[in-house]
Amino acid sequence: MPPNLVRHLSIKALGGTILVELSALLLVHVLDEYHLTLTQARERSRLTAHYVAHDLERRFYGIEQMFLGIEDLLTVLGDSPQARTIVEAALKDRQRRETDFMDLLVVDTQGRIRHWTGTGTPPSVTDRSYVTAHLQDPASQWFVGPPQWSKVHQGQRFFAVSRAFREPDGRLRHTLVAILDLQTLPRAYAEPALDNLQIQLESSTGEVYFTVGGISRPRWEHPSAWFGIDDTLGTTTAVPGTPLCVQARLGTDAVLRPWLANTAVSLSLWLLLSLAMFTAFRHIIRQQDRLDFLATTDALSRLNNRGHFMALARNLFTQSRRYDQPLSTLVLDIDDFKQVNDRYGHAQGDRAIQAVAHLLREHCRDSDLVGRMGGEEFVMLLPNTTVTGALATADKLLKAVEETPLGDDEPFSITVSIGVSGRTAADTDLESLINRADQALYRAKRAGKNRVEQLAVPHP
Ligand code: GH3
Ligand code: MG
Ligand code: MG
Repeated sequence: MPPNLVRHLSIKALGGTILVELSALLLVHVLDEYHLTLTQARERSRLTAHYVAHDLERRFYGIEQMFLGIEDLLTVLGDSPQARTIVEAALKDRQRRETDFMDLLVVDTQGRIRHWTGTGTPPSVTDRSYVTAHLQDPASQWFVGPPQWSKVHQGQRFFAVSRAFREPDGRLRHTLVAILDLQTLPRAYAEPALDNLQIQLESSTGEVYFTVGGISRPRWEHPSAWFGIDDTLGTTTAVPGTPLCVQARLGTDAVLRPWLANTAVSLSLWLLLSLAMFTAFRHIIRQQDRLDFLATTDALSRLNNRGHFMALARNLFTQSRRYDQPLSTLVLDIDDFKQVNDRYGHAQGDRAIQAVAHLLREHCRDSDLVGRMGGEEFVMLLPNTTVTGALATADKLLKAVEETPLGDDEPFSITVSIGVSGRTAADTDLESLINRADQALYRAKRAGKNRVEQLAVPHP
């Protein structure tokens, strides 16, 4: 493989490796960020659901404590004349302090309201589930009703929580009921529900008590759909001691949007870096090619310089010996070149050198090797060519040089002398072949120049 090709490949391999490593790093980073984003979002929804569930548990505990307090009052006062006034005052006091109590009721064993926070004639609640639940089930203690619209308070939603108080033998003594406003309750959770987070209170049978907060959805296609994941990240937590559970949900799209933006930035940087690296490496390869060219080519004639010619020629020589193929060489020198320089100037001399180089290139085959050995001396190596063939080429060259017009203002022409030699079995190195051609050239000069000479080599 040519050395410059090896260099190109190694530079490209280096660039490729850096690019692959860079891409792998980016991929790992992007995937890491993706998992971290989702994990943080899940953690946030989990913490929110737990917070709300615990808060509701505390609220139910508060209701139980209040019921126990009222129950104590009822036990102490019994059927005394002041009982009604004192109990109803206590109920109203609790209602005033807890904004989500729409009504507080004390219901007797017949399902009639005995005391309440309302005014006037109390409505009939005998058919309400928070009463019938305790009348029908002698073991029942707590009841949490489904969300419903109030008949007493127009346009308001509520749910009832009731507790049965019984005699030691299980007979119902009375039922305490709290009617909880479904408008005020969710207000307490409006703040944690901000920013793409939805909190929902629901029963184990799926009835929704309230929903607070919203999940923002983009107008464009959900990115979550591209990755085949749910469009919400949700956690459900039970409210201890109740049939209720809290669900906190985050919109996956909104959660992933900052990650998508970061990924886009990383990808742009990666593209930019890849482009910069591609440009830099292309520049290095071009510089290398240019250095190669300068190191191997003669600047004036654009032919192989002496060193490069010899390196390539040595390979061809070895090959021709190995496969026993003919190999010939031509050494060419411009006649009386000193006079050309003296008479027409150095620039015209340079042009003459270029003209000869051009003719050499024109008269050789692709497989032939041409070089400038220095000054006005050239060399040609013809693989697979016998001396006879080389002599024919030399004759053509001789004629072509002579017939090439030179000079701009003052036309002139030049001649060359050529020494030819062919490889013999006795030749063990390239130098002996070229030496013989040199001697033949010397002979051509002495014989009067503008001619081709060949040394008579005795055949082994
Ligand atoms: P001969 O026929 O015996 O070869 O005579 P010659 O004058 O050609 O040979 P000689 O070696 O005496 O002179 C060669 C001249 O070539 C001398 C040098 O100034 C000139 N020369 C060498 N390289 C260059 C070059 O790159 N450009 C020009 N213009 N002249 C060069
Ligand atoms: Mg000369
Ligand atoms: Mg010379």
